[in-house]
Order: sequence, then C-alpha cells, then structure tokens
Amino acid sequence: MPSIAENVAAVRARVDSAAQGRRVLLVAASKMNDAARVKEAVAAGVDACGENRVQELVEKNAGHAYDGAPLHFIGHLQKNKIKYLVGVADLIESVDSEELVELIDRRAGRLGLTQDILLEVNIGREAAKSGLAPEELLKTVEFAAAKPNIRLRGLMAIPPVTATPDGARPYFAAMRELFIDIAGKKYDNTSMDFLSMGMSGDFEAAIAEGANMVRVGSAIFGARDYSRPQGR
Ligand SMILES: *Cc1c(COP(=O)(O)O)cnc(C)c1O
Repeated sequence: MPSIAENVAAVRARVDSAAQGRRVLLVAASKMNDAARVKEAVAAGVDACGENRVQELVEKNAGHAYDGAPLHFIGHLQKNKIKYLVGVADLIESVDSEELVELIDRRAGRLGLTQDILLEVNIGREAAKSGLAPEELLKTVEFAAAKPNIRLRGLMAIPPVTATPDGARPYFAAMRELFIDIAGKKYDNTSMDFLSMGMSGDFEAAIAEGANMVRVGSAIFGARDYSRPQGR
C-alpha cells in the first residue's frame, strides 16, 4: 500500500496538472484518521488540514496533529460547538446560516480576534445536505459583511453525488458564477479568495471549473473504515 507521503505527492501532481499554473490549495480531509496519520500528511506538505467533527478536532489538536499546517473546520456546524472552533480553526468552511455568522462574530469579538469563514452553499438544493440555498446566499453575504469580527474569505460546496466526476461540473460551474458575482460586489470585511470544492472523486473537474481549494480525504489516507467503532 502506498504511504501517505506517496499519496500526497500523487494527489499534488494531479492537482497541479489540473490547475494549469493556477495556485490550488490542497486540504487533507482527515476525519477518522488519527494524529499520527495527520502528522504524516502535514509532513508531506499539504496546505491545510480539514476536520469534520469538533471532538476529533479538539483531541487531535491537543496531540499537535496539525502543527505546521493551517486547520480548517469542514463539517456540519452546530451552534453549541462554536466555542471550540473560533480562534482555533484558521478557517471555518461550513458556515451556513445568519445565526451561525452572528454567534461566530460574537465569540470572535469576545476573544478579540477576527475569524475567517467560508459560506457553504447547497448548490444541488438537496434536502439532506447542509448549506445555504443559492438564493439565500447574497443576503447572508451582506449579513456577514456587516460583522466586524468576521472576514468572509469565499465559498464552499459539496455538490450532489453523480455517476461520473464530470456529472458534478454544472454544479461546480454554478458555484464559480456565484463566487465571481460576489467578488465583483466588493463587500466590506469580505475578500473572495477561496472557492473550496472538489474531493477525491472529482477534484480535477472542480479545479477545471475554478476551484482553488480542494478537500481530499481517501485519496490521501486510503478508504475510511466505517465498520470500526467511532465512539462519537
Ligand atoms: C470527507 C470529506 C471530504 C473528503 O472526501 P473524500 O471523498 O474522502 O476525498 C471533503 N469534504 C468534506 C466536507 C468531507 O466531509
């Protein structure tokens, strides 16, 4: 089995080839991988680590798993977990309501810091998925732009599962449209730097459609074993 370092090198080569000279950040989506494995990915030069579960993030952070790489939160965000993330995660990618924006701003203000966030868009309008509906996005951007302790850095999406990687391309393209539209409006406290989309199965298609941040898990760490007890 190839090592994590070999996988990171292979993924990086594919990312660079799809990027055609553009800079694309590689985020290692490390859910269910322990601190030692995360450290291997960091040592191999991923640009950031992305965690889904707050408890895992807190535990692995205590084990210094992410030292040397920025830490992103990419999972479903619950308001009672915000206190563990603000000022700890360098980027919270999965903000999807005005209420969460409000609570993050308040917490960041109390800590005297500015929290970088992305807004997550439910670009496929799937009932079971989190994320803002595309038509709610502008209103939420304006809401976030008025918050002094938040800096909106871009957008994130997880498109519907499709039979082929290219099946997701229309969703990726729709995200790029939203991204360009917001960037053109020049809101306060907003800098549209990151368009985070693309995972192991489709990151090349996402990059071709304008992603500059991809979140890759299984292609780096191997398949996740969901049969093992999680305890969380
Ligand atoms: C797990 C996960 C990924 C990575 O998925 P892979 O298919 O393993 O690459 C990316 N983004 C989010 C939000 C995830 O939860």
